[in-house]
Order: sequence, then structure tokens, then C-alpha cells
Amino acid sequence: SEVRVAMVADRAPPPPKPRIIAIGSGKGGVGKSTLTANLAVALARMGRKVGVVDADVYGPSQPTILDTKGGKPEARDDKLVPVQSRHGVPLLSMGHLVEPGKALAWRGPMAGNAMAQLVDAHWGDTELLLIDLPPGTGDVQLTMLQKFKPEGAVIVSTPQDLALIDAQRAANLFDSGKVPIIGLVENMSGYACPHCGEVSDPFGRGGVETAAEGTGIPFLGRIPLALEIRKASDAGAPNTSGDGEEAEAFSAIAAKLAS
Ligand code: ADP
Repeated sequence: SEVRVAMVADRAPPPPKPRIIAIGSGKGGVGKSTLTANLAVALARMGRKVGVVDADVYGPSQPTILDTKGGKPEARDDKLVPVQSRHGVPLLSMGHLVEPGKALAWRGPMAGNAMAQLVDAHWGDTELLLIDLPPGTGDVQLTMLQKFKPEGAVIVSTPQDLALIDAQRAANLFDSGKVPIIGLVENMSGYACPHCGEVSDPFGRGGVETAAEGTGIPFLGRIPLALEIRKASDAGAPNTSGDGEEAEAFSAIAAKLAS
């Protein structure tokens, strides 16, 4: 009927879904969450509408890094509403859904479903969603590939051989899901001694770039091992000023994702 046509025309079209970029790693502790948060804040500073999904069931750290610890997402029409961080980056995290440590006991399908709820949420005008995946190649990754088909994946590794082998495995998973690998990032590369300034390489250096060359995957850049980065994460203030060598390292990678 005419009335029905008018009602349909009145209804605003649903906002376009955000593009999805997954941030993965072969193993934990290599800086995947740190990279995700710092890239998000750098992109927000470039004027991008960027959101973060923290799908790391085993250690959801984004509420700490992006300083939304007490925040609880509300539900509207059966979907979650992201928590706004003071950095201009909306966030939904496994850590918002469960108490710390509880999700550890989840079996794979539960974790996959929880991740799906975080992604299929009220993201509003968010253009780009960065997904902080759990380490490795488990159910959350599979659900992500099957259900949401990210437009690309970024893989983080430290320069060590062992971390690189695991990173290769993560890259293979995305490959098999036909998700293009945007590139590899080397984290914890080069440590400048705060006392004498001498640069040492606790985890080696250059290994990720060499591995990238060997596989034809683009190399996106290296992030130094820096006390400031760790402190900023713990203080809920990643990349806030945008100044300095570390911030520039993150911004350079963010610019590659923005284009
Ligand atoms: P993942 O998400 O891969 O498990 P995190 O991002 O949680 O790793 O990083 C693990 C620890 O290392 C955190 O305490 C984090 O602050 C620290 N960290 C990560 N990258 C750096 C870096 N480039 N310099 C200094 N500390 C770092």
C-alpha cells in the first residue's frame, strides 16, 4: 500500500558497514594489542573514524590501553553499543563482556560467537574497524574469516626466528581464507639504552623484513622497543601526543592503512 511505501522511504538507510582490518600474530606477547591501539589513535588523529574490536579472549587488554576500563557497553535492539574512549576511538572488548580471566575457560565456538557480537554492533559512522585477534590460529580467527571476511590482515612479529615461524602460520591462515595480507610489522626492534643511547637488539633486528621479502608479503615498518610505549599502554594513553620517534613509527604504518 501507499502508506507502507512512505514508511519505508522515511526510514534512514542503515549506516554502511565499516571496513575491517584484522591484526594478528602467531603468538602472544609480541605487541599485537599495543600496535592495534597505537594505530587506531594515530588514524583518529588523521581524522579517520576508526573503532577497535578487542577479540583477544585470552588477554583482552584494550580496555586498559585505551582507558575504558570501567565502561560497560549497552545493548540496543539486541546489538551492543561501543564504549567511547577519550582518544576518539570507540571500543568493544571481550574484557567488557566478561570478568578478567573468565573467558579463558571458553570453548572455541563461544569465543567465536562473542567476537561476532563485538563486530556486528552499532558502529554508527565508523569507517574502519581494527580487530585485535587472539594470538595463533584458533576458532576466533576462523569465525572472523568465515563471517566477516576482513579486507586485509596485518601480522605482527618480533624479529626472533621462533616468533616468525608462528607469524608465517598466521599468514597462511589468512591466505587460505583469501584475505590479503596487507603486510608484516616488526615490533620490539632495537632498544635505545636510556642511559648511554646505544642501540641494542634484544630480539634481533631485521628478521621480519627478511621474512617478508622471502614470501613477497609487504613490510610495513618496525617499531622500536621503548619504555615509553609500554608506559603509555599501561597508563591508557597510547600515542597521545603524536610526538617522537615511536609515535612516528606508528603513524607511518597508520598512513599505509589509511590509503
Ligand atoms: P600481544 O597483544 O601480542 O599479546 P601486547 O601488545 O600486550 O602483546 O604487548 C606485550 C607487552 O609488551 C605489554 O606489556 C606491552 O606494553 C609491551 N610492549 C609491546 N610492544 C612494545 C614496544 N615496542 N616497546 C616496549 N614495550 C612493548
